Amino acid sequence: MRLQQQDRTVDVAVIGGGIAGASCAYHLAREGLGTVLVERETELGTHSTSRSAATLVPGYGGQENDELTENGRLFLTSTAEGLAEHPLLTPRELLWVYSCEPEGTSRDLPGAVPIDRETALAMCPVLRPEAIDAVAWQTGVYDIDVDGLLRALVRGATHHGTGVLLASEAVSLRRQKGHWLVEGGVEIKARVVINAAGAWADELAERSGLAPVGFRALKRTAFVSPVSVDNQDLAMVVAADSSFYFKPDVGGLMLCSPADETPIAPGDPRPEEIDVAYAIDRINAHTTLQIRSVRRAWAGLRVFTADRRPVIRPHQADPSFIWCAGLGGTGVQTAPGAGQRVAEIVQGLFSSEGRV
Ligand SMILES: Cc1cc2nc3c(=O)[nH]c(=O)nc-3n(C[C@H](O)[C@H](O)[C@H](O)COP(=O)(O)OP(=O)(O)OC[C@H]3O[C@@H](n4cnc5c(N)ncnc54)[C@H](O)[C@@H]3O)c2cc1C
Repeated sequence: MRLQQQDRTVDVAVIGGGIAGASCAYHLAREGLGTVLVERETELGTHSTSRSAATLVPGYGGQENDELTENGRLFLTSTAEGLAEHPLLTPRELLWVYSCEPEGTSRDLPGAVPIDRETALAMCPVLRPEAIDAVAWQTGVYDIDVDGLLRALVRGATHHGTGVLLASEAVSLRRQKGHWLVEGGVEIKARVVINAAGAWADELAERSGLAPVGFRALKRTAFVSPVSVDNQDLAMVVAADSSFYFKPDVGGLMLCSPADETPIAPGDPRPEEIDVAYAIDRINAHTTLQIRSVRRAWAGLRVFTADRRPVIRPHQADPSFIWCAGLGGTGVQTAPGAGQRVAEIVQGLFSSEGRV
């Protein structure tokens, strides 16, 4: 079923036009389901999606995130099934640096192996060996072209008939004669609603008369600084105690973060000077980068459940309301797998019509 312009009746309304919603829309539309993607802002991906560090790290974020990443890997490595103009993944070395002995490194970080400091220095010569007690090398890491991924997903979704509604907030959602009536900018009638509203996922459930999960939005700060070394081939470096990370960015810039996790209400967070200063201090203490200035700083939300597991399943009180939220610090790398999972759930529902 396609979106009917007159009454906007569809099979599935995906609420939230970040990377998760875009992936759901693509994978649903690809299966022939009439889909509409509803975004409150005037552009897609302006919240968490455009603020990430754009890295795929296997094993990061727990087993379920890893499974989602693996499920979406073929999509990512196939230039989004040919929808992207160029490869979306570029290999990147990653080093975890420890201030103490890396007891249990390999167990805690699947794919990470302890290496000696000489090997680490060859991968990232700006490290100060005297400041680092131990290093573990993580394999299978990639830089992700997030913008390219988002564009590819939206291109594929619209090619398969998805209607994209921008500047359209889903304000109220109610069940009416076996359908959801989504009201806000535009009225939409849908058999199924996908909740891909990021930090606002609980709010959307409440607007639908359903119980929230209890998500927590944690602010994370990032910034780019000019560095005087040729940094393109340097490894990404992450402090194992979560006190900083940095990775090469384009144009001689280094992307840096204090790896902060400050609880905050859903919204449009701003970076705090103190968080940026803390990261600069930590990075300068561990490297010879001598970061002195900041070209651009930003902050974004990473959204978690209490146990940090993603929520990709039907609402327990109503199977026609499906969560795709709580993607934490891995929402970009898991988005292709998450969208596929959602499409499978919806197909399962539609194949047993009476239950929807
Ligand atoms: C600093 C930082 C670094 C990160 N680094 C990485 C990384 O290296 N790798 C990785 O995989 N992930 C990373 N992440 C996490 C990743 O960015 C997120 O997990 C991911 O972007 C979440 O995508 P989303 O689509 O769920 O949310 P969002 O991108 O926030 O999209 C949700 C959308 O829903 C819309 N919306 C909400 N309510 C409504 C409504 N009622 N009606 C209509 N629209 C609505 C919002 O406007 C928003 O556009 C990082 C995050 C941050 C902040």
